[in-house]
Amino acid sequence: MALVGRKYIRAAVMIGAMVLAILAGPGSSGVAGEIASLATPKIIVAIDAGHGGIDPGAVAGDLLEKQVVLDFASLLAAEINSTARLQAFLVRPDDSFLTLTQRIRRARRAGANLIISLHADTTGEGRAEGAHVYTLSPAGTDQAAIELAIRENRADVMGGASLAGEPDDLAALLVDLAQRGTMDEAQKLARAVLEAMAGRVTLLPTQPHRQANFRVLRAPEIPSILVELGYLSNEGDRRRMTSEVWNARMAAALTRGIQEWATLASPGFLTPKK
Ligand SMILES: [Zn+2]
Repeated sequence: MALVGRKYIRAAVMIGAMVLAILAGPGSSGVAGEIASLATPKIIVAIDAGHGGIDPGAVAGDLLEKQVVLDFASLLAAEINSTARLQAFLVRPDDSFLTLTQRIRRARRAGANLIISLHADTTGEGRAEGAHVYTLSPAGTDQAAIELAIRENRADVMGGASLAGEPDDLAALLVDLAQRGTMDEAQKLARAVLEAMAGRVTLLPTQPHRQANFRVLRAPEIPSILVELGYLSNEGDRRRMTSEVWNARMAAALTRGIQEWATLASPGFLTPKK
């Protein structure tokens, strides 16, 4: 009886909050807005700082990619947690090694609605500089992207994870179908993030939206993007990535992009995952 009573009260509070939200209209503030935001589930943003532990990632002097992205991850988490709707989950909160499979598993357990993987790699592409964003491409678009994907995917081999045990035909088909919808959503996310970054941080001048077959982007149900903060091999990028002002600007731009995506995303991708 007591249980039914509690359930009834909870349902009544939810309905009450919804009615208040409708009456107050969008962008409301005050008591109605607060009650409505209590009823709105948070969107869980898994922040995956690349590399870690025995895997330093790119190295430039005493700058290690694993540390650059770890520092930025905690800044981004704070920025995300300062919003009403988003909640950050740090996939790698410290300097430990994780396989790519473990990263996806952690994000999934945390009920992630999306995954932002952070990197700051090197490039052989001349003096290329600027941030850019990758989404999954089973094929990879160019040779540089393929080579980078091979280097990055090494983490699964280093961690001793088995690459065998691929799903059977039917399961593969279902995964493929789910992945297509998720990939569309990831494209939307990448576009929103790049739009928010444009004019605020230095972007790669040509093709800042790239595609590669990164294993960490392959969760079939979670839209995932990989953000390269810049090239650790480039002097300008190194200067920016070690600047507090630039880091704050980048964290704010990424957060704004995620918020924008949340207004465009198919509703199924925004519902609580656990
Ligand atoms: Zn990397």
